Amino acid sequence: RWPEPAPRTDRSRLIVLAGPTAVGKGTVAAHIKAHHPDILLSISATTRAPRPGERDGEHYFFVDDAGFDRLIAEGQLLEWATVHNSHRYGTPRRPIEDALEDGRTVLLEIDLQGARQVRAAEPSATLVFLLPPSWDELVNRLVGRGTEDAEERARRLRTARVELAAQSEFDYRVVNDDVARAAAEVVSLAAR
Ligand code: 5GP
Repeated sequence: RWPEPAPRTDRSRLIVLAGPTAVGKGTVAAHIKAHHPDILLSISATTRAPRPGERDGEHYFFVDDAGFDRLIAEGQLLEWATVHNSHRYGTPRRPIEDALEDGRTVLLEIDLQGARQVRAAEPSATLVFLLPPSWDELVNRLVGRGTEDAEERARRLRTARVELAAQSEFDYRVVNDDVARAAAEVVSLAAR
């Protein structure tokens, strides 16, 4: 009798991209998606409402609270968290497992709590922390995009301080000084 194949434990092609608010995670992830169609950019489930222009199944899977509860109960989420003390966000497990089985690289753009859960579930995942060139630049970007009021900005900057303090938990740090450059660096970490 032949021995059973060893379980696959190498999940280093599972890349987690985290970092503080307004650092440009979404922009870097979108750049990677546009230039590397072979890399799967995970689509999260969320209980928040779609913003203008966001489509279900493309930017997020938009679900209500009961729907999100069901995803948790059925074990369909690799990780999930309540972000900015408001809505729940989670990573569907199945598309990621399938893509990794196919030998593809998978990119998750999630928050610090989610990154920690992925680390616990998949110890060989690659954790990348995206940094702003400076604190002042982060504040400028948040004010500049103009999508949050002053109270919400203050809340996000408090979270940003907490997240920046956790950067040593990550395998790599990438400075988002230039989107194309930062995206290329993230991809090079994935391609090891
Ligand atoms: P937004 O509402 O601006 O699209 O996203 C808010 C935050 O939720 C971002 O920091 C983003 O990284 C985080 N996020 C998005 N999807 C997920 C997810 O599936 N899991 C976790 N833990 N965080 C997520």
